[in-house]
Amino acid sequence: MTITSRWNIDIPRCSLQQWIFGSATGPLPDTPIFLDPERADNFLTKRTYRLLGKRVAIGLKNAGLQAGDRVLLFSGNNLYFPSVFIGVLMAGGIFTGANPTFVPRELAYQLKDSGASFLIVAEAALKTALEAAKEIGFPKERIYVFGGNTPPAPEVAQSPNPGPGVKGRVDGVKHWTELIADNLNEAEYWSWDEPLDATETTCCLNYSSGTTGVPKGVEISHYSYVANGAGVVFTQNLDPEWPQKKSRWMGLCFLPLYHTYGQTYFVANFAKMDVPTYVMAGFDFVKMLEFIQKYRITALAAVPPIVLALAKHPLAMKFDLSSVESVGSGAAPLGREVCEEVEKGVFKGKLTIRQGWGMTEMTCTALSWDPRRLAPSIGVGEMMPNCKARLMTLDGTTEITKANERGELWVTGPTMMRRYWRKPDATADTTHTDSDGTIWLKTGDIAYVDEYRPGAIFYIVDRLKELIKVKGNQVAPAELEAVLLDNPNVADVAVIGVTIDGGELPRAYIVRSPASKATEGDIAKWMEGKVAKYKQLKGGVVFTDVIPKNPSGKILRAQLRERAKKEVGGP
Ligand code: AMP
Repeated sequence: MTITSRWNIDIPRCSLQQWIFGSATGPLPDTPIFLDPERADNFLTKRTYRLLGKRVAIGLKNAGLQAGDRVLLFSGNNLYFPSVFIGVLMAGGIFTGANPTFVPRELAYQLKDSGASFLIVAEAALKTALEAAKEIGFPKERIYVFGGNTPPAPEVAQSPNPGPGVKGRVDGVKHWTELIADNLNEAEYWSWDEPLDATETTCCLNYSSGTTGVPKGVEISHYSYVANGAGVVFTQNLDPEWPQKKSRWMGLCFLPLYHTYGQTYFVANFAKMDVPTYVMAGFDFVKMLEFIQKYRITALAAVPPIVLALAKHPLAMKFDLSSVESVGSGAAPLGREVCEEVEKGVFKGKLTIRQGWGMTEMTCTALSWDPRRLAPSIGVGEMMPNCKARLMTLDGTTEITKANERGELWVTGPTMMRRYWRKPDATADTTHTDSDGTIWLKTGDIAYVDEYRPGAIFYIVDRLKELIKVKGNQVAPAELEAVLLDNPNVADVAVIGVTIDGGELPRAYIVRSPASKATEGDIAKWMEGKVAKYKQLKGGVVFTDVIPKNPSGKILRAQLRERAKKEVGGP
């Protein structure tokens, strides 16, 4: 039985930039919107956020960007990140962001898979980027160094020629400010072309492995991105106190902006609502506490390990966190006991942590809480506006109609991805089309509802899909298995996630090649240079005689998960 949202709202059919800024040239507030927590005079206002975006757009177009071309940004967070993101969209391009901790092989994969025309890369990651570019023959002239010695944001946005930074070219690679050199006057009056059809125009490719296989580009249209934002703004406005709260609301972004959670939350939705955000370069727990205290942060968008740290870290109680009024958590499961510890501890009973559920393939959030509803539980809230869900038996054939009965969560709505980039088979495997043409996303998550009615509360209880979530980051077993199979000591392998100390970690079961004497340590060491740190086999390496498979060769992961539970304990 389908569970609909309680709300049907109008969703503007426009570009994301049009939705955030209202227009390309109209007046905008000149109060800070993105701020540098390390330096008070370094910030962008909503006007300069748009202005810098337009300058990036003009620069990219002059450098040859055509509508639909992809631009890959390989960088941690900084004040310019939002303007590069929106600038790519303003130019008619498609944004794709990569995890800044990637090793060359991983970046090369995304660069090649997305077919990016431009690569903008943090100075600290330039070596990795140049290796990746060499590996796939990506032209050096299309690489730009990002950040580094860039002057402060107000200067970059508003001076006629911000120059190529203090050092200029790095290793012969252009500095990104070359894109915006001399184009201030033009940018003031320049307007982007609105997409002819916002539902058919992709604005970003956020990478996700989905329910199976390797990471894939998730094609999100402008319309879906706007639908996600419109839903968030709508639910925020259900709070009768929001007009007062809004004037004091202050965000702190420590989530990575290449991932949809941070990206939609801050770059789009907070900016739309004129809520200022302090942008941290990366996650640092103690700095996060310091900044909350110093800047009187009101709203935290977190992931479970951060909530866990708020419960357990000895320094958490030493800071004044009394300004915080709202804490949301998503991206991975979070137990109620930990939430209560944090609510009663650092937040002194003033707030309740609310969990939401989202997925890159649904732009971001699909289940969240009506702010007027009290007592959030372990539930992840109700369907966002215009979205609907159903629960299916695990074989995908029958709809569940009973409350409290578990099934695979299928969702649909205007926020659903268009498709996986250039992967029609993966798109077909992950979706189901009803006879009336409705396309559903099979999420691979197992859930139940408290009752069958619009606005029912959903509970996520397990994961059917292969995906492993390490501190909120996606780890695709298929990717690690492919890498491990390149090792001559490995004849066969399966990777699963194990829960250790409340967090998931990848664990490999390996059948050694006949003559191999490789040790667990040898395998773990070999992986070090091959994948980013968060994908390392910290859940262990176990040698085994055989990998359990079904007759068609599919790994029986559930069996391995049961085995792992016995070996390491845990849920
Ligand atoms: P991503 O596309 O990286 O956002 O990952 C989406 C996946 O994260 C979902 O399909 C779930 O498996 C998991 N996830 C997201 N939010 C939650 C939550 N509140 N509880 C449990 N798992 C979650």
